[in-house]
Amino acid sequence: MTGKYLITTVPAAGRCGRCQSWILIGVSEGLWARVDPFPLERRWEIVALLSGRSCFTLTARTLIERDGYLRPGLVLAEHRCGQRLGYSITKPPAAPTPEYPPF
Ligand SMILES: [Zn+2]
Repeated sequence: MTGKYLITTVPAAGRCGRCQSWILIGVSEGLWARVDPFPLERRWEIVALLSGRSCFTLTARTLIERDGYLRPGLVLAEHRCGQRLGYSITKPPAAPTPEYPPF
């Protein structure tokens, strides 16, 4: 908790009211925070910031908006329906077939 009015709560898992995706919802320094529960690598955090999304550090069971200070914890991006970050761009291996066994 920070100050009398700028409260910070432990985020809880919930569903987005529009797309029904699982998200984390909590209050971060007095403002509601709704984030995707997928930790981001640095490159995806940059993509999030360039697209105008806020990023948060999940630390000590609270969401702290990223402000330039390096804090230990997981980096999570603000939720936007249908715009999940952190996709793997590598193609998954094809399922084995009789012509191409997995060995
Ligand atoms: Zn949504």
